Amino acid sequence: MSVEAGTLFVVAAPSGAGKSTLVNALLEREPAISLSVSHTTRPPRTGELYGRHYYFVERAEFEREIAEGVFLEHAEVHGNLYGTSRTSVQELLSQGRDVLLEIDWQGAEQIRRSKPDCVSVFILPPSRAELERRLRGRGSDSAEVIERRLRNSRGEMAHAHEFDYILVNDVFEDALADLQAIVRAVRLRSALQWQRHESLITELLAL
Ligand code: GDP
Ligand code: ADP
Ligand code: 5GP
Repeated sequence: MSVEAGTLFVVAAPSGAGKSTLVNALLEREPAISLSVSHTTRPPRTGELYGRHYYFVERAEFEREIAEGVFLEHAEVHGNLYGTSRTSVQELLSQGRDVLLEIDWQGAEQIRRSKPDCVSVFILPPSRAELERRLRGRGSDSAEVIERRLRNSRGEMAHAHEFDYILVNDVFEDALADLQAIVRAVRLRSALQWQRHESLITELLAL
């Protein structure tokens, strides 16, 4: 039996929709999924740790790494560079681990091209007013950064239809249940189950 590769999940949303909060809650319920830690040129927010939330790097270093082919995908978002390192993701997938990328729509487009088997999810806020309320309420960004993110949100949300699934994060627990349902349904796909339960199927089909 061949060793099955893990599934690559891609989650995107406009800033403030609740993507990180939903993903962190999902990972508590589904600890078999590994979260990919991105590289970024954005300065760390209060409480953000190097290697845990992001690998924070200077723009010159990031650009050198782009040239070296370090990134599976990379994009400029809200004036900063963000990217996913190729080796860490490949290694986890080849070990059979499921991997989740929290990236923007431009990165998702690149991933879809190089990994057509990925499963992508876009998270929408329940309204523009609520998106703004959440961004301001989070208290992690300056007024100027918040304005820029809100201005960019329309352009980002216009890409939601390119994703396999769309979630509306209104009632948090409902959105979390929806996200978990997607992960569980993917794991029950027949091609995977047929491999996983090979001995059961052999027994059930025996003459
Ligand atoms: P937040 O997710 O809105 O709280 O803000 P961040 O500053 O953490 O992320 C800004 C944007 O960059 C979001 O759209 C992220 O999904 C995206 N992003 C984060 N990491 C990556 C990455 O590795 N690659 C790409 N393409 N986008 C990323
Ligand atoms: P993103 O990663 O998409 O930028 P966050 O996960 O940081 O967004 O969430 C933005 C803010 O909204 C956080 O303060 C978070 O606690 C809050 N939030 C997330 N989901 C909900 C929800 N369903 N209802 C109310 N507040 C929420
Ligand atoms: P923040 O700066 O608030 O953490 O993230 C802002 C945006 O950058 C979010 O939409 C986030 O998904 C995106 N982002 C974070 N990491 C990556 C990444 O590695 N690649 C891409 N393409 N986008 C990313």
